[in-house]
Amino acid sequence: MNIIQSYLTNNPCYKAGRKINVKGLMLHSVGCPQPKASVFVKNWNRAEYDRACVHGFIDANTGDIYQTLPWNHRGWHGGGSSNNTHIGVEMCEPAAIKYTGGSSFTCSDRAAAQAAAERTYKAAVELFAYLCQQYGLDPLKDGVIVSHREGHARGIASNHGDPEHLWKGLGMSYTMDTFRAAVKAQMSGTAQTPATPAPAPEKPATGVPYLVRVKISDLRIRSGPGTNYASKGFISPGAYTIVEESTGQGAALWGKLKSGKGWIALGYTEKI
Ligand SMILES: [Zn+2]
Repeated sequence: MNIIQSYLTNNPCYKAGRKINVKGLMLHSVGCPQPKASVFVKNWNRAEYDRACVHGFIDANTGDIYQTLPWNHRGWHGGGSSNNTHIGVEMCEPAAIKYTGGSSFTCSDRAAAQAAAERTYKAAVELFAYLCQQYGLDPLKDGVIVSHREGHARGIASNHGDPEHLWKGLGMSYTMDTFRAAVKAQMSGTAQTPATPAPAPEKPATGVPYLVRVKISDLRIRSGPGTNYASKGFISPGAYTIVEESTGQGAALWGKLKSGKGWIALGYTEKI
């Protein structure tokens, strides 16, 4: 999972600066044949773009995730009360499709389009598993992971058909049920990739201080125990002494560095 932070700091939604208590995640797809997330990031990062704002875009060529709002920032993605509760993420769509009205489209290269849709689906599974872990969410619980289409059926979002219309139109077997099941499997480790954080360890019986090995190269240091605290840069892979523990959002365990630089998420480390 590759997350590229690209906040839409010029978008009025970012400037509004409202926070939410994250209760769920909404999956979208962009509704136009544009596979490049960077195009949306550029287009939406303007003061005049006051119609919508989401937390992320998934690039259909690479599977890279562009994070465009802090995860607990209130977005403008659902067109209803889901904005107050749900993180919204857009999957970019294949270049080979052409909309003919509503959610109907034709496709000039089905194999390429299916490969692109598979790429965004898989990246979304990894991202949603990570976010469920961060916010202590059960992916199979009713109303936690929903599509924009399902959000409308539940009365919490505007009338859109995404992203199911894309999978259906390309003749793929993906549904929101297969998606939720895949997120659950990802979280339980049956489909885990090395870049995906392991579940937070149980609170050790032994207590501090102790040594951990940081396993990833871009682990962020925070001023306090949680992703809602200010970023203080990154820590390099290596061994570090933890002098205090605390539980952050989503019951993730955080450790205070002996160096005094701040806190790190212990789910990305192993005790040595
Ligand atoms: Zn949508």
